[in-house]
Amino acid sequence: MLKREIFRKTGLFLILALIILILTAYYLILPRYAVHMDTKMNSATAHPPYSVTGAAKNLHDSLIVADLHADFLLWDRDFLKEHDYGLVDLPRMQKGNLSLQAFTIVSKVPKGLNIHKNTADTDQITLLAFAQHWPIKSLFSLKERALFQAKKLHEFTEKSGDQFVIIKSKRDLAHFVNERNTGKKVTAGFLGLEGAQILEGDISNVKIMYDAGFRMMAATHFFDTELGGSAHGISLGGLTDFGRQVFKEMQERGMLIDIAHASPAMIDDILAFASMPIVSSHTGVRGTCDNQRNLSDDHIKGIAKSGGVVGIGFWETAVCETSAAAIVRAIKYVTGLVGVDYVALGSDFDGAIQTPFDSGGMALITQELLKNGFSESDIRKIMGENTIRVLEQVLPD
Ligand SMILES: [Zn+2]
Repeated sequence: MLKREIFRKTGLFLILALIILILTAYYLILPRYAVHMDTKMNSATAHPPYSVTGAAKNLHDSLIVADLHADFLLWDRDFLKEHDYGLVDLPRMQKGNLSLQAFTIVSKVPKGLNIHKNTADTDQITLLAFAQHWPIKSLFSLKERALFQAKKLHEFTEKSGDQFVIIKSKRDLAHFVNERNTGKKVTAGFLGLEGAQILEGDISNVKIMYDAGFRMMAATHFFDTELGGSAHGISLGGLTDFGRQVFKEMQERGMLIDIAHASPAMIDDILAFASMPIVSSHTGVRGTCDNQRNLSDDHIKGIAKSGGVVGIGFWETAVCETSAAAIVRAIKYVTGLVGVDYVALGSDFDGAIQTPFDSGGMALITQELLKNGFSESDIRKIMGENTIRVLEQVLPD
């Protein structure tokens, strides 16, 4: 009798200990792991205060600065608070006069990630999503991951008062530009998708993404999708019939087509197919950094011909160095090839990369452009106006 009682008590104790262990792991250890990953994976080589000349600072502060790619929403960081880790938050964007930011959604990243060859068989985001307490359904659905991240940006927007707005239409954009031009320092963002795996192979999800606020989508990320081949996938194939259907609908709705991470055959097909400006939201160019991730001269010319822009990335695989000088070298290469109207910024902040500065240090690019002899009107275009022109053309009324 006594023995049975001891067994029962030991059993209860063990169950209780197990529950405490699970709760501790979920509520204390996993979130810390996520912050640790964020700190480790999204870093800058230099930290504020950044040293910028008076002339560069004056010019920079008068610009509308636009950036076509940042994966901020993947991480559990409060947008409204300033952090000493990660690369983007509203206070730092305001300090860096980063005025218009594309918030791009990462949904699935294979293990053993590389720029050469990846399959879609594995995924590292599930654990990160679990560690950051994302909704259960987002653990099992890429579409839900996108919708959850979009919701986060909408919630931050509401909490920001009138400091931050999301741009979804030509009208929103015109209003934002007008506010900036009349001296109001409002900051804006728009939503993009990094890879059409988010559609889960279903064309009706284009509308669902549009309704959730998304205005840009890339065909692929690190692996092939139903739309065609990734530059780092297996098939290296071109645009599929499904891809054509998706892009046709995106153009009709007013969503920007992004060729970042697409295979060369895919880029050829998209450029031949598209009737609207095409962008590469974050890339390097082979002319200054020759690897599989970066754009050939022909593809830069194709993007320019479409009226789109090449968003120059800030990290090593894009520009072969981590410096403002290397970013501007790539910008200069594009302007040398196709003129000053078709180049823009595509930092890839918070995309598990290291950059030369965080979102508070954007003036360092303006300074480097000045040093390289770009005129004030050229700098206005490169730093923001080119991106704004493309959005004006593509977004719905
Ligand atoms: Zn990317």
